Amino acid sequence: TGSLTCIGTGITLAGQITTLSKNYLEEAESVFGILPDKLSEDWVKSLNPSYESLQYLYAEGKSRRQTYQDMTEVVCQAVRDGKKVVLALYGHPGIFACVGHFAIERLIGEGYPAQMLPGVSADACLYADLGFDPGTTGCQAYEATQFLFSGVPLNTSAYTILWQIGLAGEHTLKTFKTTAQNLEASVRILNKWYPLEHEMILYEAPFIPVQKPRIDRFMLKDLPKMDITSISTLVIPPLTGLKLDKNALDEFGLDIKDFG
Ligand code: SAM
Repeated sequence: TGSLTCIGTGITLAGQITTLSKNYLEEAESVFGILPDKLSEDWVKSLNPSYESLQYLYAEGKSRRQTYQDMTEVVCQAVRDGKKVVLALYGHPGIFACVGHFAIERLIGEGYPAQMLPGVSADACLYADLGFDPGTTGCQAYEATQFLFSGVPLNTSAYTILWQIGLAGEHTLKTFKTTAQNLEASVRILNKWYPLEHEMILYEAPFIPVQKPRIDRFMLKDLPKMDITSISTLVIPPLTGLKLDKNALDEFGLDIKDFG
């Protein structure tokens, strides 16, 4: 019977796929993928010639919600047809990527075996390239537009990672770019939590091993002037870092003095 394994190809071409995922990829009877460029597609094809891109289901003016449903259906149908299917997504297949999750849920509901294997995501690359450990202060991550529209508070003692900043404020789900106006509104929202001079970073991990990552540091107020692409991730370092709280320590019978 058919089955589905969702794998991540990592961000940097050819080097960031796990051995286990590569085995599944090579053994699959049918491979579907959403990959960032032709080079990675050619590389996946060289491992398994059955590779078919799902990119054709995207279209300017078509709701991405519909696109993801269509992609899910194509993958599920191949499994129903009895094939051993691999869905190859760049990065980690389940981080800020819904098609793998949708397909697994649907197929398990229909009684088919379906699983996801982890991959190297953009934030995994980010901790390595920017040289910070999310465990030092804690770290919160949001999809940029969902954060901007939700009014939720930011924890400024932790790192903040805003994914898809290149789509900031894009509510129609039908186009692929943010606007200067949306970025200005984003500055006003972030300014509730950070001063306009607070330093932040636009990060882009390289897709090709010889390329260097993009690490552009700038002030919050200059966000609308930055060249933001569909692969940019915004990283906001903490304002303060974690501090000891007297009331919390009381609960443990401890005192600030106990920490020298
Ligand atoms: N599944 C992917 C992963 O595990 O990294 C994430 C896919 S999500 C739809 C797209 C967003 O991921 C981008 O808007 C950006 O925030 C981030 N991203 C993708 N490629 C990136 C790269 N090369 N460098 C930094 N961030 C990247």
